Amino acid sequence: MAKSAGTKESKPEVNLTRQREAILTVIRGREDHPTANEIFQAASLSLPGISYATVYNSLRFLKEAGLVLEIKFGDSASRYDRETGRHDHAICNCCGKLVDFELPQAADLMRAAARRSKFQPASVHLTLRGICPDCLEPDATAGADSLSLKARADRKVRQRKAGPKA
Ligand code: ZN
Ligand code: MN
Repeated sequence: MAKSAGTKESKPEVNLTRQREAILTVIRGREDHPTANEIFQAASLSLPGISYATVYNSLRFLKEAGLVLEIKFGDSASRYDRETGRHDHAICNCCGKLVDFELPQAADLMRAAARRSKFQPASVHLTLRGICPDCLEPDATAGADSLSLKARADRKVRQRKAGPKA
């Protein structure tokens, strides 16, 4: 009944239209977790005249096909992730950069969280918010604005460390 028992290594996972293929290529070509709008802009370069609705529908298709991951952080626009396996994210409070990392202890944290919440756990996703290395250590050539940015960032970190706890 199934198509074949062979590997799918050299075959595309699903039969993609030209637009969907182009959109998947955009997402797989970048590691910055673009928004739908950013994907639309990038896809317009290879497919001039592509509509936002087409991009939006393609993203939904790719997501349902398990080829990309949609991630939401609060109320901000969804970001699209080429990495579909379980992994964690760090977001920069200064520039909004979103990067992947993987914490092997996440499974332990999930079990502990499940005990506390009395929920049956299904998945866990950690989001670290902070200040990225680029914002913390601005390029020496970047000038006074960046230095004051670093100073502000340092102050924020110190305030957070001091915290309200006695
Ligand atoms: Zn940053
Ligand atoms: Mn990711």
